[in-house]
Amino acid sequence: MSSQCVRVERDGDLALIIVHAPPVNTITAEVRAGLREALENVRSADGLRAVVLLCDGSTFFSGADIGEFAGPPREVEYRTLFNGFEALEVPLVAAMHGTVMGGGLEIALACHYRIAAPTTRFALPEVTLGIIPGAGGTQRLPRLIGAERTLDFILSAKPVSALQAMEMGFIDDVIEGDLRAGAIGYALSLLAAGKGPRRTGEMRVDPATATDDIFRRLTDQARKLYPNRNAGLVAVEAVRKASRSSFAEGLETETALVNECKKSDESRGAVHVFFAERDCRRVPGIGDEIRAAPVKSAGIIGAGTMGAGICVCFANAGIAVTLVDANDAALERGLTNIDRIYQSMVERGRITAEDKVQRVSLVRTTLDYGQLREADVIVEAVFENMELKREVFAKLDAVARRGTVLATNTSTLDIEAIAHATSRPEDVIGMHFFSPANVMPLLEVVRTTRTSPAVIKTVMELAKPLRKTPVLAKVCYGFIGNRMMEGYAREAERMVLEGATPRQVDGALEDWGMAMGILAVFDMAGIDVGVNVHKANVSQYPPDPAYYQADFALHDAGRLGQKNGRGYYRYEPGSRTRIDDPEAIEILRRRARELQIAPRVHSTAEIQERCLFPLMNEGFRVLGEGIVLRAADIDVVWTSGYGFPRYRGGPMFHAEVLGLETLLNGMRHYRDIFGPMHWEPAPLLVELVERKLSIAEWVREHRTTREQP
Ligand code: NAD
Repeated sequence: MSSQCVRVERDGDLALIIVHAPPVNTITAEVRAGLREALENVRSADGLRAVVLLCDGSTFFSGADIGEFAGPPREVEYRTLFNGFEALEVPLVAAMHGTVMGGGLEIALACHYRIAAPTTRFALPEVTLGIIPGAGGTQRLPRLIGAERTLDFILSAKPVSALQAMEMGFIDDVIEGDLRAGAIGYALSLLAAGKGPRRTGEMRVDPATATDDIFRRLTDQARKLYPNRNAGLVAVEAVRKASRSSFAEGLETETALVNECKKSDESRGAVHVFFAERDCRRVPGIGDEIRAAPVKSAGIIGAGTMGAGICVCFANAGIAVTLVDANDAALERGLTNIDRIYQSMVERGRITAEDKVQRVSLVRTTLDYGQLREADVIVEAVFENMELKREVFAKLDAVARRGTVLATNTSTLDIEAIAHATSRPEDVIGMHFFSPANVMPLLEVVRTTRTSPAVIKTVMELAKPLRKTPVLAKVCYGFIGNRMMEGYAREAERMVLEGATPRQVDGALEDWGMAMGILAVFDMAGIDVGVNVHKANVSQYPPDPAYYQADFALHDAGRLGQKNGRGYYRYEPGSRTRIDDPEAIEILRRRARELQIAPRVHSTAEIQERCLFPLMNEGFRVLGEGIVLRAADIDVVWTSGYGFPRYRGGPMFHAEVLGLETLLNGMRHYRDIFGPMHWEPAPLLVELVERKLSIAEWVREHRTTREQP
């Protein structure tokens, strides 16, 4: 028997159900149909004594089809299918490899025995998508390993290895060598030992693992790990149910709970970001006829903070890098930095010492631009200075071969002007990495009016081996992320001048879900860095005498942030712990008096609104001006580059959850208080509210004009 993606093979007394649904054996509707058919087949087979379930390709089932989340509930279908497997009258062995997640693990829990290749990893990451394991996971796993371990595993959402899984008690054996042969051997040994089916659903949860005290601890843990969210608490409720009622009743409850979760903003937001991160790689209008150029070697100009981090990204991808700087000392510093990054990866067990040697060997350094002749891509990361950058690009124009991608990592300079320092502006593009470049996943890819489709495609595809999430933008000051950050940070700074403490402002933002308050971010990045940007770009900002004056005041007092232990907060040497500092507060108060800024009492809600409203409002400008291809691209920028909470779906998604009219009214409310300079609603926001359109409806209207490459 064989369906498209599931086949049944006989091997003597055994049947093997083998799934082949590349790339990662997602449990799609088609796979489920194939599994149903396979189940029928083995049920009616003659002389069958055991069944093995396994998958072809890189992994056992990687999980459920997240694309189905928005559609009608599928839990009952999953449950019936998995129960059908569990009910088999002969032993059923799941033989696993690769990354077994969510629904993939849940189907294995419905099998009678579970074995895995040594490199297999297991995870139940559902709570990070705002849901709970909904295909029996919350009911079967506690029957195998107890309620406490189940919830620790579900709430951590992190993968465990095959050995850890065996210690935890949800797999029976680790199989070295060929998995299929090992699985057949394992099934035969079960038969030889007279073992029959061992149904998880017929077991009981060990009551010692499910006491009220344990659930209390886990409830606290869910609150702590997932503030502002509900799915962790729902998982506790579902597992508690498993320990207090029958299996059938528990499954019913689990289904009801997971379907409730799917409707939540938290789940819709996280799922939205999941798909947005996939879609942002696509560039409508650049079709298959345009080919990405292969990238085998790269050049990096500037061995500073960014250059070293970018170098590591390329070397991690196995791409040879030539690192160029203006003097030996800078190259030496760059190499030391690269070494340090790799050393810390070795120490944290991320790579082996041999990996480090191999990756470092891909980097060579030189002062000679002539060594860049063979590079397929060159990324410039010298000081942020237009004259210097134009000089560097003119040199690159002279040495690079035709067709080499010439990229700049500038944050604030006009890439059009940089491109015109060369005789080939069509090959010039922005590759805006974020600091630390080897860690942060976001890559803003900035095209000029002249960048060729082939260069855009090459860079968008290069993002994959570099392990970056690329978002395509057009040239404007600040591109997407930093442009939207201007208003967000401006208000945070303004509020500390009005008398709020840095901790109050950062605390309100962190309570809302931002990974780190913006003032603490400035301390980390260096107050001088922000001040230099603002000094160099005065013409880009509104004529507001208070603009970013909190940064200026601290800078004038020699407070540079973490690097000298004094910024918005104070830091003990070698520590990043923020300590409130009356001296900083006094400096801010003094500057406020000089600027005659009236003190104000700030509620948490006001702090959050005054930072987040301008951020979202600017997003509507970015979208309206066609700087981005899609609203969701903005959400990707903020969730992957600026610590915006994924469960809020990014600023554009959140604007709709909040209500566009609420946002518009909020902008108008603060405009009435603070004047129009910073609080004018974006024209697109006004249009959407007046025409009662959603962002998606508006985008649909404008699709034909926006999809130009
Ligand atoms: P940096 O000061 O740490 O490093 C700049 C390097 O460029 C130095 O090693 C310097 O010796 C070298 N350099 C100067 N002139 C050169 C020349 N003619 N040829 C070769 N090398 C030369 O700066 P950075 O923080 O790494 O920033 C580099 C670029 O990245 C800037 O354009 C900056 O705006 C951008 N950027 C920085 C960050 C950040 O957080 N630091 C984030 C995104 C983008």
